[in-house]
Amino acid sequence: MLGVVAGFDIGGTKISCVISDLSDKRIYRLAEATDSVSGPLDYTNEHSVYHGLAEQLERMLRVALIELGQPRLEAIGIVSAGPIRSGGLWSPPNIIPTGIVESHRELPRFIPLIDPLRDAFACPIDLLNDCNGAVLGEVYYGLGKGSADKSALHLAYATISTGFGVGAWDGGHLILGKDGNAGELGHIVAQENGLLCGCGNRGCVEAYCSGTGIVSNARKRLLALDEAERAMSTLYRRALIGDSQLASPSKIETILDNITPALVFEAAEEHDFVVQSVIDDAVLAAGVAFSAIANAYDPRIISVGGGIALAHPELLKPIQKEMLRHLNVDPPEVCVSPLGKEVTEHGAIAVARRLLDL
Ligand SMILES: [Zn+2]
Repeated sequence: MLGVVAGFDIGGTKISCVISDLSDKRIYRLAEATDSVSGPLDYTNEHSVYHGLAEQLERMLRVALIELGQPRLEAIGIVSAGPIRSGGLWSPPNIIPTGIVESHRELPRFIPLIDPLRDAFACPIDLLNDCNGAVLGEVYYGLGKGSADKSALHLAYATISTGFGVGAWDGGHLILGKDGNAGELGHIVAQENGLLCGCGNRGCVEAYCSGTGIVSNARKRLLALDEAERAMSTLYRRALIGDSQLASPSKIETILDNITPALVFEAAEEHDFVVQSVIDDAVLAAGVAFSAIANAYDPRIISVGGGIALAHPELLKPIQKEMLRHLNVDPPEVCVSPLGKEVTEHGAIAVARRLLDL
């Protein structure tokens, strides 16, 4: 029986498992909801430890191998929303185990991945954060696919999705940093004392240019308006749909809970004055981050993916224009990733194949 490699793409809501044979043909794919409910939890004095995610990966992979007739598993590549540390995830903001006891809610959360999977499958395993994984996907299967000499490539990948992150490949090397968290440019400051970010700091790029940032900026701007002004906003009127009663001050927060990134972009098409400021803020913040990418890594091209960017490629031109305002190096090109939303799955397979020097 010939060998295979497995790749996992772990997100806050979904995990996919892809399998390729050693000639790099995809032969299997399975996706399921991320399970942060059913697995066992342990506690130390310093943190909680959630074992459920590794158990889910092990189960998905065992099912895959049985369905494929038990081929030999040569390597596993894991790409996940971070932060990553010590072979697992450390307090990832979008994977929060529900069963943590009340007294341990404030402690950091560790989700081990590499050790339990190595125990289960006895093969080489590596874990990268999603943007570093995505840039590998881009190098081997996307923009860099046709380049036989990967050491001649200088490219970066930026995601504008629930969050904002970056990965960079420079002349044959993935730039990882000591813990594998290099490229966390979503948390550089775009506006001093600005909006609160999911990381706990203020004014980060991600607080303005991400799905969560766009929604919370729109909320904040609508809350700052008086009732008459608010009624002029298309976004507010859309958030009100289905809500038959007049808004009392205490109810406004609940109405604003209806705002989604999709609703914001629908209102943008109708030239909503609140949304225009939200989009302008997002473009300004992304421009700061993209110029940081260019200044830090000097790539030839920045490939952009993530749900928000893929659904709204029209954002890239103004972001590029904003980036140019902050640069005096030869600017990189900016384009939408040709791999679309599959870039991280491709990255996971690339992580596994690199372990075998394929
Ligand atoms: Zn932040």
